[in-house]
Amino acid sequence: MNTRRCIGCGGCMDIAPGLFRLGKAHSEYIGGSIVSDEDLRDIRICAITCPSRAITVLVDAFSYCS
Ligand code: SF4
Repeated sequence: MNTRRCIGCGGCMDIAPGLFRLGKAHSEYIGGSIVSDEDLRDIRICAITCPSRAITVLVDAFSYCS
C-alpha cells in the first residue's frame, strides 16, 4: 500500500471491507499475510481498480489457505 498515492476514494473498502479500512487520510490494509484464494482475488481486483495505483500485490508475501 502506497499511502502517499491513496486518495481515500473508498473503492477498495467497498470491494473488500474485511481487508481494507479507512485510516486517517488513506486506506489501510488489514488482511494480514495469510489470505484465502477468495481474498487474494479481491485484493487483486482492488489493485486493478484503484484509481491511483496505490495497491501493489506481492504474491510471494502471501501464504495461502483454502
Ligand atoms: S481504491 Fe486506491 S485510492 Fe481508493 S481508497 Fe483504496 S487504495 Fe486508496
